[in-house]
Amino acid sequence: MSQRPSILIQMTQLGLQYCHSMQTEQITTFRREVVDPNAATWERERRVPLEAIRAAAEIGLTGLQVPTEFGGQGLAYRDKLAMIDILSRTSMAFAFSLVNTHNVAVHIASAGTDDHRERFLPDLLAGKRLGSSALTEPGAGSDFASISTTATKVDGGWRLNGEKAWITNAAVSDVLICYAQTKPGSGGAGIASFLVDGTAAGFERSAPFDLYGGNAIGTGGFILNDYLASDEDLFAPAGEAFAYALGSINGARTYVAAMCCSMVRASLGLAVEYGAQRTTFGVPLLDHQGLAWSLASVANQLEAAQLLTDKAAELIDSGENKAAMLPAAHAKKFATEMAEPSISACIQAMGAEGLRDIHPLGRHLAAARIANYVDGSTEIQNERIARTLIQTYQAP
Ligand SMILES: Cc1cc2nc3c(=O)[nH]c(=O)nc-3n(C[C@H](O)[C@H](O)[C@H](O)COP(=O)(O)OP(=O)(O)OC[C@H]3O[C@@H](n4cnc5c(N)ncnc54)[C@H](O)[C@@H]3O)c2cc1C
Repeated sequence: MSQRPSILIQMTQLGLQYCHSMQTEQITTFRREVVDPNAATWERERRVPLEAIRAAAEIGLTGLQVPTEFGGQGLAYRDKLAMIDILSRTSMAFAFSLVNTHNVAVHIASAGTDDHRERFLPDLLAGKRLGSSALTEPGAGSDFASISTTATKVDGGWRLNGEKAWITNAAVSDVLICYAQTKPGSGGAGIASFLVDGTAAGFERSAPFDLYGGNAIGTGGFILNDYLASDEDLFAPAGEAFAYALGSINGARTYVAAMCCSMVRASLGLAVEYGAQRTTFGVPLLDHQGLAWSLASVANQLEAAQLLTDKAAELIDSGENKAAMLPAAHAKKFATEMAEPSISACIQAMGAEGLRDIHPLGRHLAAARIANYVDGSTEIQNERIARTLIQTYQAP
């Protein structure tokens, strides 16, 4: 009688990086059936695949870390990372859109009122509404403390005015956690966050940006024109919101690093498979040392990026978020910087075949470029690392 292999053996067979308890097979099947055949079309059609987000929600992927009492799966950060790893093999854009809605659901579950949870969580968990976290503005990206969207106290709530840009899912989302300045001139200290309903008066959606390799992210913006947020919609008051945003960034940087590792692993897998079969000058491509060494370098870079990512992930998973700040910056910087040249080398190793969009490599290459900006640019990771140089490396 044949026995089911243990989850660990299954994971090894699937080539998965993160040790976790959830049904990785189910997510892999979902990817093979829903994402693999459609990812290129979503990019060509320049759209967020709402039907695929809903299908992901049906197997619980919008609520992995949402506590079970609120309808989620109550799983850990490493489970989210496993999901991201699996989905990014084919489409980082889809994984990025999905995880942003997931994060809003987690945020509402942990910081929202009962009314917020009743109003928004069921639809987010069902994938019927998408979520966004809106910090960036046309005039403020890296320098988050300089945002100019204002929140002015009025009777019974707050009037929000301003414009947001480059917001994941904003092309279609209508449950948005929006950051605004309550005391102009006070920088991060005056920033608060509000739950904004994209179907309410005063919310005006802008046209989404077309981004090759990132159209399924649905990046766009919106204008708040005297939008009235009730007192209950104040999510994190001035003094707390900025710290919350900075606190959650370590997890985001680490999963962006994991996305890069996943795309490079998928690209390398394809290049190796191709190189073992295709012959030139009477031998398989991989028997040409010049080519095999180029892929060996990709593997070498990937292993290093994966270790940095795992190190940051373990700290986050064990609740040591503060200690994860520097490892997350290292992981994101290294993984994003290695992804583009590595994917390029894989395309090169496949000859012209590597350029065809029946393979995900071109999409991965474009998405790897995008990874250099999201959740803090490469230069901002440099800044983070540079600020700790003396403390970390000064000779005793
Ligand atoms: C696909 C996509 C999805 C996104 N999703 C979201 C989202 O959901 N929510 C959200 O709020 N934002 C989102 N963003 C915005 C993202 O966070 C910003 O792009 C990022 O913070 C950089 O800001 P910027 O593009 O305005 O660049 P800028 O801040 O204008 O910087 C321009 C260049 O200067 C460099 N630079 C800036 N300051 C320094 C410095 N001190 N030292 C050295 N170099 C510096 C930057 O690294 C960059 O190369 C998204 C962006 C993209 C591309």
